[in-house]
Amino acid sequence: MTAPTQKPRYSVVVPVYNTEDCLTDLVMRLQRVFTDTVKASFEIILVDDGSVKAETKTLLDDLSQKDGVMVVRLTRNFGKPGAVLCGLSASRGDWVITIDDDLQQSPEDIPLLIAHEQHDMVTATHARKQHTLLQRITSWIKALFDRAVLGYQVKLSPLKLIRRHVVDGMLAIKTNRPFIPALIRQVTNDVVSVPSAHQKSAQGRSRYSFKRRWNQFSDLLVGNSNFLMQVFTRLGFVVAGLSFALAAGVIARKLLGIPTQAGWSSLMVAILLIGGLNLAAVGITGQYFIRILDITSKKPAFVERERLGAPPTE
Ligand code: UDP
Ligand code: MG
Repeated sequence: MTAPTQKPRYSVVVPVYNTEDCLTDLVMRLQRVFTDTVKASFEIILVDDGSVKAETKTLLDDLSQKDGVMVVRLTRNFGKPGAVLCGLSASRGDWVITIDDDLQQSPEDIPLLIAHEQHDMVTATHARKQHTLLQRITSWIKALFDRAVLGYQVKLSPLKLIRRHVVDGMLAIKTNRPFIPALIRQVTNDVVSVPSAHQKSAQGRSRYSFKRRWNQFSDLLVGNSNFLMQVFTRLGFVVAGLSFALAAGVIARKLLGIPTQAGWSSLMVAILLIGGLNLAAVGITGQYFIRILDITSKKPAFVERERLGAPPTE
């Protein structure tokens, strides 16, 4: 990077994991958008999330030679949120744009987001999705939880424009299992979505297995919200309330002289229900403890190995 010593207006953060061909195209299209349409200073930060493919490594080495492109290599695969967080911490722009590496979002949509710069965070809504059924279901569940747990009124896409002070606020939150929408939500409510001018392309095979998606989802539930705690607390009250009602019923029957039957099956149901709820609640509490342990032992969300094409520090 022939380094502009001044901070750029825009930083584009791209998490990269085992990508090949489309990366060059992505960088070219980003450069074109900023030079021809936006006409403002920019930097592109490609965060290599521990890619193991040799092609990706050489491609990133080559791209780091380009003007305005920086490559940050992580020591291992930390997962997308860690890679994005690393990109945010390396970024210097007044605004940060996040976008995936597989052209599933169009760089040409960036000016649309920029047109709404009066907000803290702007995301794009895509007209159509062309994912597999499993991906569609998981993304539907994710959208549901973004709404129910995080309280987002809009559907989020990986293409986001985030204001600097929001980025700084996100970086100040200590977490080793970041969940980007939750971090944004901790800092601001001023989030809008603009309809994308482009259809979501079918490009790019997902690098997320069901297990990894599930892990991310549980990070949202346990690491970034108190949703499960609330569910179990409420469930606890409901079960306790029901047992009180049952007890009141039994006492009333006794007082009224109505003969009561010894009900072994209902007793078993009650024991199993309470036992199951207890076990689940203990397990979930354990999950929270593990995460607190992770944070107190300062487990990192990402570790940088090297920076290529980085501008000199000011
Ligand atoms: N990614 C990453 N680390 C990973 C997996 C994915 O940085 O361990 C990045 C990937 O390079 C891409 C983005 O996360 O920029 C989305 O990944 P992918 O396209 O595989 O997921 P999907 O489109 O199915 O959400
Ligand atoms: Mg993708």
